[in-house]
Formats: sequence, structure tokens, C-alpha cells
Amino acid sequence: MAATSVKPKKNAFAARVIAWQRTHGRHDLPWQDTRDPYRIWLSEIMLQQTQVAAVVPYYVRFVRAFPDVAALAGAPIDAVLAHWSGLGYYRRAHHLHAAAQAIMATHGGRFPRDAATLATLPGVGRSTAAAIAAFAIGAREPILDGNVKRVLARHRGIAGWPGAPKVEASLWRAAEDALPARGIETYTQGLMDLGATVCVRTNPRCATCPVAEDCIARNEQRIAELPSPRPRKILPQRAVRVLLIEHGGEILFEKRPALGIWGGLWSLPECALEDDVRAAVHTRFGARVELRDALPPIAHGFTHFALTLHPQRVVVARWPARAEAPGMLWLAPADAHHAALPAPIKKLLRSLARASAIAEG
Ligand code: SF4
Repeated sequence: MAATSVKPKKNAFAARVIAWQRTHGRHDLPWQDTRDPYRIWLSEIMLQQTQVAAVVPYYVRFVRAFPDVAALAGAPIDAVLAHWSGLGYYRRAHHLHAAAQAIMATHGGRFPRDAATLATLPGVGRSTAAAIAAFAIGAREPILDGNVKRVLARHRGIAGWPGAPKVEASLWRAAEDALPARGIETYTQGLMDLGATVCVRTNPRCATCPVAEDCIARNEQRIAELPSPRPRKILPQRAVRVLLIEHGGEILFEKRPALGIWGGLWSLPECALEDDVRAAVHTRFGARVELRDALPPIAHGFTHFALTLHPQRVVVARWPARAEAPGMLWLAPADAHHAALPAPIKKLLRSLARASAIAEG
């Protein structure tokens, strides 16, 4: 880590961010017209690792389905996951549900308003807690999400991977140091907007940046190297066969365990690539099946590994009654689109529907 000696004037940074936000920032996002901490919390969780444009329709539907913390806490997790389906990082939906239930159980249904209590909720880290407290009650707390880390690393010339504890500590100090005495809501929104629309990862728009004048990365031509990338690590590769078990126009889905990838979502039964598919289906379900086409593989990236799904169509002539059990569901492909399915499985079903339409046409 190396911070150069140029230090901006106290609060000059914040004043410029605030003035810029008022004229150039975003003012029409659906979660900006409220001081309801429930809605602000929801938007902040959805915005973790997801871009605004993708979040907006999910947020609108989610708030309509679960208008307050009591509605969310009382809803079955399946309903919550169905409204989250396609947004990714499903652990966030489990955390939302658990946090809503914790608020009902230990806070009398009243959403906490101070950052320290907010940070005790499942899925709420220091930066998210600070953003909720700032937007809901104007608490003077620093945020440090991924975009803000990039802005501060560049502006203050803080080198090193922001995920490293020492670098992160320097960034938190810079975030605390930059806080304005007044106007925390506009400043917090301004920092978020600056990171999302101006100080973007590649080709930042420095010519329109309100803090360009004393930006160390810009003045020292270090933009491309700040913030430093995560040290390279080769992701492990995993592959699995997913079975499209078809019967009477419907496809079999299984509920995944709550923990692990796609926790609690409905997905296709799986077997290892080397397994004999007919034998695997017979052992698990007691059904005799015919193999149909193997479909093209689908690659899907997770944070810690890369997964390749190898879809195999399988047709069942007769489904044994004993194979019906909780955690299994038959759905027509058209209905499956509305269920809580992982995004790559939805994509697979859409391509299957298109292929069937071509074959029938
Ligand atoms: S001048 Fe450029 S690199 Fe520096 S903070 Fe602004 S947009 Fe980012």
C-alpha cells in the first residue's frame, strides 16, 4: 500500500460531491422517494453486486409483494425466492428473510435505525448499515461499497487490493475523513452515483468528474492500476449433468438444500458426468426412461468456481407413485418460468421451448 503525500483540503471533496450530485446525480430511482428503512434496506441489499438497471424491476415487484417487514417475515421462503429468482446471489434473499424474522422477533417489528444495530442483522455489513442509517435518518456514517472503494482508491492514491485487510482499513479511514458535516444523504448518494456513472472501472470520465482536480490517480497517470486487482487465482472447474426428466409435457424439479449454491431454489435433478443416466434415474426414482438428446453445455460462473451444466433430456413412460415426495415438483416449461429457478436453468428451459417451437413449426 502506498499513499502519496498530496492530501485534499478537509471537506472540499465532500462539498464537490454534494454539489455535483444535486445537478448530475440520480434522483429518480424508486427507492429515493422514501425514508422507510425497510425499503432502503431492500434496495441496498439488492444493489450489492448488482447494477441499478437490473435491480429496479425486481425492487418494484418485491415491494409490491412484501410491502413491509412484517409481510416479508410472514412470507414462505419459497415466495421470497420466487421474487428473487434471476437476480443471483441467493444468499441475499435468505438473509433478507432471516433479518425480517429477527426484526419481528427481537425488535418488536420496528426496523432498527442506528448503524450499529443494523449491522447485527443477517447480510448487513458495515457499509450497508451506514447507507441505510444515512438515507433513513441522516446518520453521519461512512459507506464503502465496491464503487466507493474504487473512487477513494483512485482519488487518494491508495494502492493494493481493496479486499486485503490493511488496504480496506486505509480506505475506511479515507471514507471517515471525507465525511461532510452536513448533507450526508446527498453526499452518500453522490459517492454512489460518482462510482456508478463517472469513476467507472474502465475509461472513467475524468473530464466530467467533480473531484478530478486533486485526484492522485489522474494526476499521476495511475488510473489503470488503481484500485489494484485481486491477486490472480485460477478458479476450480466443476461439471455436472442436469436431467430434463420429461413426463406428460412436464419436467421434474427438485428443491435444493437451503445451504450451498442456489440454496432453496427449484432445480433439475443432477448426476455425475460419468454416471449411466438410465441407471441413475432408476436408482433414484424407480423409473424406467429413454434417453433423448443431450443439449449444448451451459457455463455459469460463481465467485469461487466455474460450473458447466451438461443438460440431458430423458423421457419417462410411467412414473412410479412411490417416487412422489416432498421436495419434488412437476412443472410445464411455461409455468416453470415463474418459479424460483436458478438463472441458467431458466435459460435452458427457454432454449428448450424455442427448440420445441421450431420442431413443431
Ligand atoms: S478524476 Fe477520474 S479517476 Fe479520479 S476520481 Fe474522478 S473519475 Fe475517478
